[in-house]
Amino acid sequence: MRCGRCERALPAVMSFRLSSASPPVSGYREHFLQADLLQAAIVVGLWVASVTLFIVIDYVVTRGAAPFAALLGLRVGFIVLSVIAALSLIRVRSPRRADHIYLAWSLMLVVWGLAINVVYGAEHPSQLAQDMAILLTFYFLTTGPLWLRLLPALVYTLGDVTLDLGHHALDSVPYMVQLLMLVFVNAIGWVVSRQMITSRQSIFAMHQEELALRKEMQALAVTDPLTEAFNRRYLDMALEREFSRAQRHARPLSVLMFDIDHFKRVNDTYGHQVGDRALQAFAGMILRAKREEDLLARFGGEEFVLVAPETDEAAVMVLAERLRQQCEAIQLELDGGLTCRFTVSIGAASVSPDESCCADLLQRADSAMYRAKQGGRNRVIAYQPD
Ligand code: GH3
Ligand code: MG
Ligand code: MG
Repeated sequence: MRCGRCERALPAVMSFRLSSASPPVSGYREHFLQADLLQAAIVVGLWVASVTLFIVIDYVVTRGAAPFAALLGLRVGFIVLSVIAALSLIRVRSPRRADHIYLAWSLMLVVWGLAINVVYGAEHPSQLAQDMAILLTFYFLTTGPLWLRLLPALVYTLGDVTLDLGHHALDSVPYMVQLLMLVFVNAIGWVVSRQMITSRQSIFAMHQEELALRKEMQALAVTDPLTEAFNRRYLDMALEREFSRAQRHARPLSVLMFDIDHFKRVNDTYGHQVGDRALQAFAGMILRAKREEDLLARFGGEEFVLVAPETDEAAVMVLAERLRQQCEAIQLELDGGLTCRFTVSIGAASVSPDESCCADLLQRADSAMYRAKQGGRNRVIAYQPD
């Protein structure tokens, strides 16, 4: 990606920010799944508690007469199936599976609620309250799609309305009140459910955006904006980590110190913009050539450091010579058919078993690089003690 004003290439971290549209909302159910399942299991548990209490009310109302046995059977059946549903919900790991359990339990609640109404008949002391509780449960038990809430709610409403016709005339006041309340509760459930789904989706989208932003900030904090190599701060942390790992496991570790030759001349001859392009081309060449686990950092102006874990002195010298040659081959095309070429001096140092500080390793690579400069530049020198 390029900057709109000066056509300069933008670092990858910035281009990511500029191109990131609103994150997709798919995945929001997985995000809330654990909390939602716990809530659903608690709601089912509350139903179990209330149905258990109703066994006492059934006894008081029927005084142990005929319908009591049927009601007891229905209530015990409901309690057993609900406990199974609640335990299954707690164990579920995917929204799809959770939806199957929601649907099965909801349809069971439809059949059970209607059966209770049939057994009690028109004299049910809390019929309307039970209907309301059942409908609200359908709408608010699950955080799943709207159809999953609407389906059991509508089936229950239709069943209830049909059953009530057996007890009341179509135009009687109790029937009208019942009908109105059922429509009213369904309407509330539908409106609030839709709102709940959209709010959750936007909370999830905001959360995703914040995560992306944090990731991007972290990348910016450790990246050199011009060359996309890591910055000095990150180098210090990473080198220390690699150094202790190498010491702990007695593994090889090498570093290369690069300093572009006569870079001041590049700036003086072609200008700073070409100098910047040269730095980008140089870093880009190493970033493409290095292994995944190697780390390139910009140490200072035109100085770079490559940290190469699991690489001994012989291997790092081969790598350094290859990079030196590839640097020689870089040609920056300039206006007027001109080309800009440059070379690099490289110092190499590898960790030794008695070394106790990673700063010494860097210092040794630096002094090897200094020798490469003294030796005529455009060369690789391995650190040798005086
Ligand atoms: P030597 O071969 O001894 O290393 O010579 P040199 O000219 O490369 O060394 P010196 O340290 O004198 O010059 C480094 C130059 O790098 C000076 C500075 O202007 C330039 N420089 C440092 N950072 C940047 C940068 O971000 N962009 C550009 N264009 N130039 C930079
Ligand atoms: Mg320098
Ligand atoms: Mg230099």
